[in-house]
Amino acid sequence: MQRILLKKPASKGIAIGEAYLYRPGRIAADRGLIRPEAVTAELGRFMEALASARRRIVELSARSDIFEAHVDIADDPEILESVTDKITMELKNAELALEETADAAAARLAAAGDEYLSERAADVRDVCSRVMRKLKGLPSSGMPGIDRPVVLVAGSLAPSDTAGLDPGLVLGIVTAEGGDTSHVAIMARGLGIPAVVGVPGITEIVPDGADIILDAVEGAVIIWPDPAASELYRARAGEFSRRKSELAEAGGLPAETADGRRVKLCANVGSIRDVEAALPYGIDGVGLFRSEFLFMESRAFPTEEEQFAAYRAAAQLVPGPLVVRTLDAGADKNLPYYLGEEEDNPALGWRAIRMCLDMPEVFKAQIRAILRASAYGEVRVLFPMVISAEELDRALGLLADCKAELAARGDGFDPGIPAGVMIETPAAVFCADELARRASFFSIGTNDLAQYVLAVDRGNRRVAPSYDPLHPAVLRAVARVIEAGHAAGIPVAMCGELAANEKAIPVLLGMGLDEFSMTASLVPDARHVIRGMRYAEAIGLASRVLGEGTVTGVRGILD
Ligand code: PEP
Ligand code: MG
Repeated sequence: MQRILLKKPASKGIAIGEAYLYRPGRIAADRGLIRPEAVTAELGRFMEALASARRRIVELSARSDIFEAHVDIADDPEILESVTDKITMELKNAELALEETADAAAARLAAAGDEYLSERAADVRDVCSRVMRKLKGLPSSGMPGIDRPVVLVAGSLAPSDTAGLDPGLVLGIVTAEGGDTSHVAIMARGLGIPAVVGVPGITEIVPDGADIILDAVEGAVIIWPDPAASELYRARAGEFSRRKSELAEAGGLPAETADGRRVKLCANVGSIRDVEAALPYGIDGVGLFRSEFLFMESRAFPTEEEQFAAYRAAAQLVPGPLVVRTLDAGADKNLPYYLGEEEDNPALGWRAIRMCLDMPEVFKAQIRAILRASAYGEVRVLFPMVISAEELDRALGLLADCKAELAARGDGFDPGIPAGVMIETPAAVFCADELARRASFFSIGTNDLAQYVLAVDRGNRRVAPSYDPLHPAVLRAVARVIEAGHAAGIPVAMCGELAANEKAIPVLLGMGLDEFSMTASLVPDARHVIRGMRYAEAIGLASRVLGEGTVTGVRGILD
């Protein structure tokens, strides 16, 4: 028996079964040059393969957003131009022209050193390998059909591989490549398949056909488990699925403590598909619609109409309020078509509300789209990264201008649309009283707040141990914001990851937080924690925790 510790699971659960090793080979082009008179036929061959691959991608796009992005890649004029130039001017055959084009495009994206763009590089490779398969007359995925229950172990899994998977037969997934936001991680969470991604060398460690246990709760793989380990994990797997179904059954129950304190449990989403996926969790609303995904997936700033269509569709689906956060680009969220100037310190640079206030036409198009969606549901607008009352006043001024423009155009909207502020900078914490006089609600973004309060980069692995949202400085900042919001009579929500932290939830509840917004799949656990508590007890706990001045002291109470 061999036990290997892995990292944090991408999708929780326990899988027990036979390892199925998948090592896709790269489909090499038959390198060749063509004669000038063969150019037209070669172009025709390429266009036919492209059209056929595109038809399949369009079919798949009905199943997943990922493939919508693939349609854009198949339609990319730069890729088409590069391939046709290589065929017509360099007399390369279609396979070689495509291989060189794909390599260059993927390398450009991967060189950006940004997780999001490197995922896009994998998309370009996936689409091009689909076209290559068509050119070579191969089946559309290299993944052989799986005909028995297995735990899939792979170097990487492209969307074209996962699209063909039978979720009934794939008990678990471990991959060497990929991060928490990779397609395989998103797909596994969506299908409820236990998964750990980004484990270098895993395909060299796990033998094909071995009995294995994937513990995607603690993060471990056990190869050739002994009978005691098998029995232990069978019991754990049973317990895990019992708990999952109990939690799912509690979906319709309110997030209310045993002594009657009711809070709201909402979802954080980035797309309509996320909204649809969140509904079965019995959410009270959407506490954070990260509108920047709409911007990141476009080739240019999305128009007012495009945005209106997306916000309206979300507003019509969400059972309660839909909080749309205005564009929060910059720093770790670059827009491929609008990179701005290179900055030495992007986390402190031109981002979010600063960028929007400098580009009022882009900002106003978004605000008008959000306002128009407010005629179709309970929509709220939320401004990110605010550091001063002056910034908020300017944003509220533009909101007022947009209302006047829409009224003049005769477009419907909610004139009393609530406008909130994200509290994610120390400046906003210290000026929370002033901001609360102007805002309709607060939403605390602890992901950034912890980064700025602690001066620890939230994405830098080297300093990750110091990035602790349970640091007393962060908790005291949170308590201060809740107090300032309540003193001004406005509700206070939290949409940072801390809102889903099971240790933090009782403390936040005791501080008086009104709304917890998180990845939808975490809502059942949060509901379970809240329903299992007494508010009076939570108040006592919060006061004890706030009395601690050290991380160790806080951990001593909560761990
Ligand atoms: C946050 O900063 O806590 C937040 C919710 O925003 P994002 O993670 O999108 O920066
Ligand atoms: Mg933030």
